[in-house]
Amino acid sequence: MTEDILLKNYTTFKCGGNARFFDEPTNEQEIIDDLKYAKDNNLDVFVLGGGANCLISDKGFDGLVIRTAGLAEEINITEDGDTATVTAGAGIKLISFAVKVANAGFAGTEFATGIPGTLGGAVFMNAGAYGGEMRDIITKVRYIDGDGIPHEVGGDDLKLGYRTSVFAQMARQGKVFVITGIEAKVRRGDREEINAKINEYKAKRTASQPLDVPSAGSTFKRPEGYFAGKLIDDTGLRGYALNGSSAQVSPKHCGFVVNNGGKASAQDVYDLIRDVSDKVYGKFGVRLEPEVRIIGEFDGMPDVNVMSFGFKYGEPAEADLVFDVRTLKNPYWVPELRPLSGLDKPIIEYLDGFEETEGFVEGLIKDTSDAIAKRPDGAGKFTVAVGCTGGHHRSVFCAQRLAAGLKASGYHVVTRHRDILKDNADG
Ligand SMILES: Cc1cc2nc3c(=O)[nH]c(=O)nc-3n(C[C@H](O)[C@H](O)[C@H](O)COP(=O)(O)OP(=O)(O)OC[C@H]3O[C@@H](n4cnc5c(N)ncnc54)[C@H](O)[C@@H]3O)c2cc1C
Repeated sequence: MTEDILLKNYTTFKCGGNARFFDEPTNEQEIIDDLKYAKDNNLDVFVLGGGANCLISDKGFDGLVIRTAGLAEEINITEDGDTATVTAGAGIKLISFAVKVANAGFAGTEFATGIPGTLGGAVFMNAGAYGGEMRDIITKVRYIDGDGIPHEVGGDDLKLGYRTSVFAQMARQGKVFVITGIEAKVRRGDREEINAKINEYKAKRTASQPLDVPSAGSTFKRPEGYFAGKLIDDTGLRGYALNGSSAQVSPKHCGFVVNNGGKASAQDVYDLIRDVSDKVYGKFGVRLEPEVRIIGEFDGMPDVNVMSFGFKYGEPAEADLVFDVRTLKNPYWVPELRPLSGLDKPIIEYLDGFEETEGFVEGLIKDTSDAIAKRPDGAGKFTVAVGCTGGHHRSVFCAQRLAAGLKASGYHVVTRHRDILKDNADG
């Protein structure tokens, strides 16, 4: 493990500050050791793949960055008649993987032959292009959780959707994990057709994307019913830059923010992303959400106060949005849980034990993000309050999860548990 490593060299945006701690594990035991070190020292963890979809703050990351490039377990293709099972380490480049599968005469990875980054990042993001996506080929993923325990997840449990996955969901819930390897299924194809597709996609990419300038690809997610690039273009922002900075809406592809000459700071890029999102919202009433993962603290980040409270002590007057979480199962009715608070592990495990909890928490995060997005300035200062009966079990748990999710979505979050200490009469 090393200290104070400059992360800009590890991102395609070519900006960003230092990692306080940095490691490149090469096997599962080294990952487990890293995670234990982080836990023992109360450090935040960020897992960096190829850095092709990350904007890391100039202030850096005040925790441990685990870079996965060393998880380079060989690409192994096992043929079985007209299909093949392919396995590989999460740190392998997606492009190397896709090309190797194609060269072996199997179809299905052509879409990925131009997408930068690693296999782990591609699964996390469910990367895709030209009608193909990781969902079409991935069957299983191995990962190690924050307690150092290995898991395997497959099929529908991967929850692969438009630029999302169960891993993006876990990150939103503040969970720590490292994807270590993948398994994919592909079918035999016609070599000429495979090559023709790869060449066609390559030509399209070269013609339409600014591949010679640092960027993280498409900066924004595609809003339902629209194309981000077209909305930006129609707002008159092709080639737009703020205050002469080197961060610019690409004149070649409006969906890309580029860092000309690698001279822009991460803050310059961040300011441009927010300004473009506000301007498009002002013109079309459509809020563009970054596809790029925003890591660390930026000036001008939307401030969100997340508060837990008990309805028996009254709704907080200052809340812009109030959630009632009394429909969740109540730990109060389990005698040994009664004296604990929503911050205690047994309460978290109890509430996590119900299938509906995950969807419920996702709903809180989504509804809060939607409410913030509808504000003309993106947020200003926003207070969201989460209430249960007495304010120390379910509301505390949900507020914690909501805060982690908003933090992972690029908000500056302050959490307060208003009624946690008041009494122990109910949950
Ligand atoms: C020129 C250019 C073109 C692009 N074109 C496309 C495109 O066509 N389609 C597309 O979908 N994307 C595209 N992208 C974006 C990018 O290539 C993808 O999102 C890619 O999948 C990111 O992979 P990465 O390894 O770089 O992930 P990173 O940027 O390093 O990380 C992305 C997220 O994944 C998490 N993560 C990464 N690896 C792991 C792991 N092993 N365990 C746990 N979490 C992990 C990170 O914590 C982070 O939250 C483009 C980018 C560029 C620069």
